[in-house]
Amino acid sequence: MPASKNANSTLKSGKKSAEPNYVLVIHGGAGTMIREGSTPEQRAAYRAALSRALKAGYEVLKSGGEAMDAAVEAVSVMEDCPLFNSGHGAVFNVAGKIELETSLMVSKPPASHPAMPSSRRGSSVTLITHTRNPSHLARALYLAPQLAPHPMLSGAAAEATGASLGVLQVDPSYFWTEARWREHRRGLGLPEDPVEYPRPEISDDTNSETTEVASLSDDKTWEPLDLMPTGTVGAVALDIRGCIAAVTSTGGRTNKLVGRVGDTPVMGCGFWAEEWERDSGFVKRTWDRLRGKSKYEGVGVSGTGDGDYYIRRAAASNIARRMQYLGESLNEATQNVIDDLFKEGGMGGVIALDRDGNVALPLNCSGMYRGVIRPDGVPLTAIFFDEQLSEL
Ligand code: ASP
Repeated sequence: MPASKNANSTLKSGKKSAEPNYVLVIHGGAGTMIREGSTPEQRAAYRAALSRALKAGYEVLKSGGEAMDAAVEAVSVMEDCPLFNSGHGAVFNVAGKIELETSLMVSKPPASHPAMPSSRRGSSVTLITHTRNPSHLARALYLAPQLAPHPMLSGAAAEATGASLGVLQVDPSYFWTEARWREHRRGLGLPEDPVEYPRPEISDDTNSETTEVASLSDDKTWEPLDLMPTGTVGAVALDIRGCIAAVTSTGGRTNKLVGRVGDTPVMGCGFWAEEWERDSGFVKRTWDRLRGKSKYEGVGVSGTGDGDYYIRRAAASNIARRMQYLGESLNEATQNVIDDLFKEGGMGGVIALDRDGNVALPLNCSGMYRGVIRPDGVPLTAIFFDEQLSEL
């Protein structure tokens, strides 16, 4: 795939100063999906799922809610949907287990939690095996600094803390889908049939509430579009108070090693949210003030792709640094980071937005499930590299 710009890689906010400015951008993973290898029904199913996620987050933003809650809402819809590699429908590791990872980060404390120290920034979790919606866990831990003072927690201890905060825990079999199981077996060169249902043991060390195993019947009716099983879901939201939140959730890479930690829970690599004071001279500052422009600049980023490369390049926070120190626009900064990843062999994409509501969705591979929704409430979605965002 050439390191050129994909269709709709950036979208200007287009907002007039009196209008409320809020926006939500999401992705459902980047990968090697090919238009010719898919059916109209498959494409419509993915775009309908993205639209559902956009509308869920939009309802929060429209009613004046927090960016953090809008992003979690959108991500939860995708975690519950077997089309995406997160929550129910996540990929398996080399040992046939599902280990989930999630993160949440805000550019400033949410208005509903004014006592939250601004230095806290966010929370992430890895090696999660029982939490039904890992994005709920990241949110709960972020809001509980006394119980979870660290930016990153893992495994049973994180889940036990989440359970004590009311975050729903399930039997790991809830996450299982036949399509992902077949991918896992195929990837290891093992026979796919007969499909045995590998019901994992239920551990009771999380003091968890278990739900019934999800009905698996629906899962036979879909096939993932991407040829190489990858993916992650993410949402970045800007609320009416200028707060930006990024939430990202994944099963990681198919047949990853046991215990592998990807970019999704690593701050600065697979996700970032930050604001800083614009470094401008007196004239520009005055001009900005007259136009009602905030003295702060900010950005939120959620990545998807080969996370090992995102970690090695600190991809997400690099976007903020390029904007702050090199004066690059959101468009330039995201495209440059995606191009740099491509040069080293790192496939993927990012979604990002800035404090003015501009959005960027660059990718360096054949597709990324993606979408945007603004105050008009119309969900715009696209899948392939050269595809314009449009209403389904
Ligand atoms: N970034 C994820 C990981 O490497 C996977 C993906 O987004 O495709 O774990």
